Amino acid sequence: MEECIFCKIANHEVQSEIVYEDENFVAFKDINPQAPIHILIIPRKHIPTINDLSPEDVELVGKMILIAKDLARKFEIAERGYRLVFNCNREAGQMVFHIHLHLLGGRAMGWPPG
Ligand code: AMP
Ligand code: ZN
Repeated sequence: MEECIFCKIANHEVQSEIVYEDENFVAFKDINPQAPIHILIIPRKHIPTINDLSPEDVELVGKMILIAKDLARKFEIAERGYRLVFNCNREAGQMVFHIHLHLLGGRAMGWPPG
């Protein structure tokens, strides 16, 4: 996807602060953090929204959560607690149309979310 900023980050065409990567996934610090720890986990595969997932993506989505869990431990928020968020489309505030899992932690979170 030529114009997708997250594909460009995954391909190292756009600089970002990468904290994890492997053959299929990249995790990097959010450029506009909403918490002391705010990391985005993305698949290298371009999938615009959660609505576009298919059954063949079940392992991909599961691995995103496992990567988030490991990063929570690495960044020392696993025991205190953290939040994982997928925003989907307009009313949820999705801005970048390449699925990404937000890992947020390092402060107390309110509920319900805004
Ligand atoms: P969402 O609103 O769920 O689509 O979240 C998109 C997130 O991507 C926001 O938290 C942005 O701050 C973040 N973001 C956008 N561009 C970049 C970038 N170049 N590097 C890191 N994070 C970014
Ligand atoms: Zn993309």
